[in-house]
Amino acid sequence: MTERVIALVDAGRHKPLPPQAEPAAGPARDRLGRALRDLRISVTDRCNFRCVYCMPKEIFGKDYPYLAHSALLSFEEITRLAKIFADYGIEKIRLTGGEPLLRRNIERLIEMLAAITLPDGRRIELTLTTNGSSLAKKARALKDAGLQRVTVSLDALDDATFMAMNDADFPVAKVLAGIDAADAAGLAPVKINMVVKRGVNEHSILPMARRFKGSGHVLRFIEFMDVGATNGWRMDDVIPSRDIISMIGEQMPLEAIDPNYPGEVAERWRYRDGSGEIGVISSVTQAFCRSCTRARISTEGMLYTCLFATSGYDFRSLLRGGKSDAEIRAAIAAVWGARDDRYSEIRSAETAKARKIEMSYIGG
Ligand code: SAM
Ligand code: SF4
Ligand code: SF4
Repeated sequence: MTERVIALVDAGRHKPLPPQAEPAAGPARDRLGRALRDLRISVTDRCNFRCVYCMPKEIFGKDYPYLAHSALLSFEEITRLAKIFADYGIEKIRLTGGEPLLRRNIERLIEMLAAITLPDGRRIELTLTTNGSSLAKKARALKDAGLQRVTVSLDALDDATFMAMNDADFPVAKVLAGIDAADAAGLAPVKINMVVKRGVNEHSILPMARRFKGSGHVLRFIEFMDVGATNGWRMDDVIPSRDIISMIGEQMPLEAIDPNYPGEVAERWRYRDGSGEIGVISSVTQAFCRSCTRARISTEGMLYTCLFATSGYDFRSLLRGGKSDAEIRAAIAAVWGARDDRYSEIRSAETAKARKIEMSYIGG
C-alpha cells in the first residue's frame, strides 16, 4: 500500500500566546532584533492551479478538505486585524493564498484595506500575489479599489513546461494577457515570480529573461523551497541564484544594484545596457532571516512568524472572543517579542522533513 501524505492545514497545533509584557510600548523588536514591518494575509486556501511545488494533485485532489466559509476570517475581521497591525508598525500588506483572486468580492476587501492610514498619516502599501489567471478580467477593478501593485507568478513561456508545472492545463498566453492588463491598469511595476526547479524549468530561465528585458516589468527568480510537507523537496532540485545570475549575465551583462529598502528579500541586478532589472530570491542558498520583518495571517486567522512554521497563534479566537483592540495589540506584541525564527539559516535534510504549514494555506 502506498503511504498517503496528509497535508498539514492547521492540525490544531496552535501555540498558547507567550506571556504579555503589558503595556505594549510600541513597535518592539523580536528576540533577534527584527522589527515587524510586513504582513501577508492569505485570503483563501483554494486555487485553480495545482503547481507541483505547492499543491500537488495527489494531495490536493477533489476530496481535499478545504476550509469551510465560516472558518475564514471575514473582510471585517481581516480589516480590523490589519488596522491593529498598522497601529503596531507594519507598513505593507500583501494579499495572497491559495489564489487570492478566487476569494469572492476581493475588490471590496481591497477597498477596506486601502483606506487604512499609518500612524504618521501615510497610506498603507497594498499589493497582491496572483497566478494571473483572472487578472486580465480583474486588473482594472483591483486598481480602482486601491491596490497599488501586483506580483504575477509565471514559471515558463512555453505551454508544455508551464502546464506541466501548473498541472491544470492553463496556457501561458492568458497569464501574459493578465500581466499586460495589470500594466495598463497602472498596477506597475509588475513583478513576475518564477520558481526554478532543476530539470523542470531551468531551460526557461533565458527565454524568460529575454522576454521581460526592456518591458518595465521586474522578473524575479525564486529558489525552489521546502515549504509545506507535500512537495517532495530535495536540495538537488534547487538551482542556486548565483548560477542563474551567471547564466543570464553571460548573455546579457548584469551589475548588482542596491536594495530599494533595508531587508528587501530580492537581490537586485540591472542590465548594463540600461534595459531594466531582475531579481533573485535566494531563500535556500543565502538565507535572509536576519532581516526578516514579516508576519503571516492564515486564511482562518492564525498568526505565523515564519513561512516554515509548524504551528501558529490563534488570532481568530481573539477576534471572535470579544477581545478589545488593545488586547489584540498586546497579543501581537507578545508573539513578536518572543519570535526567534531563522529556519532558512538552519535548514537541513532533517528540517526539510518536518510537518510545516502548507504554503497554499499560509500564503507565499
Ligand atoms: N497563487 C498565487 C501565486 O501563485 O502567485 C499566490 C500564492 S503562491 C503560494 C505565492 C508564491 O509562492 C508564488 O509566486 C509561488 O510561485 C511561490 N511558491 C509556492 N511554492 C513554492 C516553493 N515550493 N518554492 C518557492 N516558491 C514557491
Ligand atoms: Fe496555486 Fe499559487 Fe500554489 Fe500555484 S503557487 S498552486 S497558483 S497557490
Ligand atoms: Fe523569515 Fe522564516 Fe524565511 Fe527566515 S525562514 S526569512 S525567518 S520566513
